[in-house]
Amino acid sequence: MNHRPFEDWLLDDQPLTPEQNRDLQTHLRTCTTCAAIAESNLALHSARKVTPAAGFIDRFQLRLAEQRKAARVRQTIGTLIFVIGGLGLLVWLAGPIVQEALRSPAEWITTAVSYFLFVLTSIQALNEVALVLLHIMPNLVSPLGWLMVISVFGGLGLMWIVSIARWTRPPQGV
Ligand SMILES: [Zn+2]
Repeated sequence: MNHRPFEDWLLDDQPLTPEQNRDLQTHLRTCTTCAAIAESNLALHSARKVTPAAGFIDRFQLRLAEQRKAARVRQTIGTLIFVIGGLGLLVWLAGPIVQEALRSPAEWITTAVSYFLFVLTSIQALNEVALVLLHIMPNLVSPLGWLMVISVFGGLGLMWIVSIARWTRPPQGV
């Protein structure tokens, strides 16, 4: 039996004119081979139309939302730790001023100025020490020692940057 062009029509799954469709239906009634192809076409069509179980999308979106929420919570906790740490440092630095202010408000400005000067001179002193060290160190420490010092500080700095980035940046690819 000649299956052309019916077999091609069915396999290509192409749209047919009413006339072609009539010829095809006539052929299908007499040909089991092409009827089988037509049937499997029908089955494929209905399979394609089946959407994933309605609950699946809901569950997926719910899980996504939960993951995003967890990420947000982690980020918030990280930010809080940094803020609290910063505030703690600030309180620790400003503690003497606050204590003085509470004890005798009249001396607040004097204390504040003297504390400011103390911090300033401390920084200056540290700066001078650092400068002296910078001048002396190259003569004291061998190039290999310098390399070690630099790599240790570089590693610590890298760890610090990475930890900050991990806490403050929202996780990717969720
Ligand atoms: Zn046929």
